Amino acid sequence: MDRKFGILRTKIKQSQGVVMERIIAEHNADLCVLCGSTVEITKEHIIPQWAFEANPAKYLVSAKNNQPTTYIRATIPACRTCNSDLLGAFEDNLKRMLVEKEPEEFNNYDRDCIIWWLQYIGFKLQLMDLRNRFLKYKGNEYIPFLSNIPVAMFWGRDTTPGQVFRILRKSRRNLTTKRKGNKYHSLVVFKTSNGSFHFFHKVNEFIFIEIPQIKKAFFLFYSKEFKDYEKACEECREMIEKFYDR
Ligand SMILES: [Zn+2]
Repeated sequence: MDRKFGILRTKIKQSQGVVMERIIAEHNADLCVLCGSTVEITKEHIIPQWAFEANPAKYLVSAKNNQPTTYIRATIPACRTCNSDLLGAFEDNLKRMLVEKEPEEFNNYDRDCIIWWLQYIGFKLQLMDLRNRFLKYKGNEYIPFLSNIPVAMFWGRDTTPGQVFRILRKSRRNLTTKRKGNKYHSLVVFKTSNGSFHFFHKVNEFIFIEIPQIKKAFFLFYSKEFKDYEKACEECREMIEKFYDR
């Protein structure tokens, strides 16, 4: 696992300039967003299928756009090698570890992998927002002058394209590092017996994903770091109260 995970991170690192330039010039470019290859492009699921297989009808709703996209349909382009071979091996091992271990048994390497995985999902969600055009708010009129603007431009009150690209670059660069020690306190893991898949996120701030198959839920603060783990738990609980849709 570690060897393939290492190869994947190196590929991401070596293609950072090429991939970011291409995506900025052409948001919907059909190239592997992990290595930059344009050969054998496949669809890589933003939320892995194994995470929601019990609930195929669940929707992934982008808060600003309010256009439901099914989890199954939400994909980004990745070449066959990166998707099936490298990422596939990483996720198989991650899933196995998550099935076998309780949160208190996680070692630092397990935590590194979970954080990397959540950072990767965050990057894919950002990319999806860049590639999706703003259509209309659900139930409201189509707004012609907004129809060509990527959803990503609505992340903040006054998000500029420059800010969007800076966030995206940083998120992708985070995928080149293996050790996530500075983020350990930013990750909160829960045991759950809830039978349904839940998910919510805020770009560059946090992600929550609850996976019934492994009886665990994860919350990661993307940018915030905490000296005190209890503080992180407290803030995490507040966010869940606010955003969890039961
Ligand atoms: Zn690739």
